[in-house]
Amino acid sequence: MKIEFYGAAKCVTGSCHILKINNKIVLLDCGLYQGKDAREKGNEEFNFDPKAVDYVILSHAHIDHSGRIPLLYKKGFRGKVLCTNGTRDLCNIMLPDSGYIQESEAEWKNRKRIRQGLEAIEPLYTSKIAEESMNLFRGVNYGELIDVFDGLKVRFKDAGHLLGSAILELYVKEGQEEEVKIVYTGDLGNVNKPIIRDPEYINYADYLIMETTYGDRVHGDIDWAFKELINIIKITFERGGNVVIPSFSVGRTQEVLYALNKYVENNELKDITVFVDSPLAANATEVFEKWTEYFDEETKKLLYKGIDPLKFKGVKFTTSIQDSIEINKTQKGAIIISASGMCEAGRIKHHLKHNLWRRESSIVFVGYQAEGTLGRAILDGEKKVRIFGETIAVNAKIYSLEGLSGHADRDGLINWLDKLMEKPKEILLVHGDEKSQNSFNELLKSKEYKSRIMDIGETYYINEDFNRSDQNVKHRIIKLLNSIDNIEGMNKEDLIKEIGKVINRNDNKK
Ligand SMILES: [Zn+2]
Repeated sequence: MKIEFYGAAKCVTGSCHILKINNKIVLLDCGLYQGKDAREKGNEEFNFDPKAVDYVILSHAHIDHSGRIPLLYKKGFRGKVLCTNGTRDLCNIMLPDSGYIQESEAEWKNRKRIRQGLEAIEPLYTSKIAEESMNLFRGVNYGELIDVFDGLKVRFKDAGHLLGSAILELYVKEGQEEEVKIVYTGDLGNVNKPIIRDPEYINYADYLIMETTYGDRVHGDIDWAFKELINIIKITFERGGNVVIPSFSVGRTQEVLYALNKYVENNELKDITVFVDSPLAANATEVFEKWTEYFDEETKKLLYKGIDPLKFKGVKFTTSIQDSIEINKTQKGAIIISASGMCEAGRIKHHLKHNLWRRESSIVFVGYQAEGTLGRAILDGEKKVRIFGETIAVNAKIYSLEGLSGHADRDGLINWLDKLMEKPKEILLVHGDEKSQNSFNELLKSKEYKSRIMDIGETYYINEDFNRSDQNVKHRIIKLLNSIDNIEGMNKEDLIKEIGKVINRNDNKK
């Protein structure tokens, strides 16, 4: 039984971990690399045969976790994708949208390539292929124990990160070996997030695959972050500018709308105009309104009172390109929420082009900005950035409200972990940049957890006497030496030969 770490190892995008049990291949997520990761690692090729994959068990719909499923399908995968019903419905709009982005990017590149006399390239996958891949999806309920195949059962627990998001409890049994429980956190949510419930606690895990996006940071209280947002809006409007919020269309946009609605309801914000400039955000809002059973108590109460928490006077969902262009005429007094959240693609780039150079306007980041993205460059204080081939000065006020993050911060991760009744045998850290992972790993060690940072391409053997991880080298060498008879009196060469034999024996067992 082994887990291969294929994506989101020592980085935050491209989540994909490969579980091999009883000759079956199961992917935990199959996400797209984004930003710098996409440029460095590439999304085109898998280093395994997609046709050989039996299942994808999907933690949640975010593209960095789900975005390569259509490519897997295009390359021959015909197994099943298991996820919650909410995740399936969100993927149903997000994956075709991702396909559309791939098509547009290929078209844009091809225009250049043709002029250079180069051959045209294919999009990674099309919107149509993404739609077709949805036939493989099987939605399940939270809390149900699903018998996937002989040797694997799975239960989806609420991860409190995005509508439908899940922590995966995997009960794995290989041959005659004892059953082990592997828990994969997926992306672990923040507590007290608007709309959705808090992350559920897990009582036990033999092995834990854990995200570490904010393993080195404490991002403060959500209520404080929303109050700060309202202040920024008021100050910016007084200055005569717009507030531009680069936001993921799915999840964060609805949360921001929920918060704005709260301040409109209590009259703290009056006569505001909010443009939600993303067709995907409009569609996602519909999915949210379908899955009200996933909402937290506070939001359910609003629904009982007849208040629509995501739509209010002053909100305009723009879907057509013409309507989107019209927004550029608005010089002041508008809140523009648009995607993509890290400013790498989509309509947000137009809104940044029209507002970034204006001292009156504000740009408010409400989500994680991965290294190498336009969002990160702006946040890191670049004075000039390139958008659509044009140099744009960064004069607007730049804010980052990390408290609105969809991810638990360092304390949130530790609090969640401390709820386990017993420490896991080992915690395998994924989904974080180097600084965050190192810091969190140190913290875990100081709390006497056994943990390690997984690397891309690394294999972790579960329930093996001999584990090729480098962390327990000493322990394993002692074990190996103990298994060699007549160690006394052996010379160095013979000893090395004997160790080699034991290693081979262990290798062959796999
Ligand atoms: Zn996520």
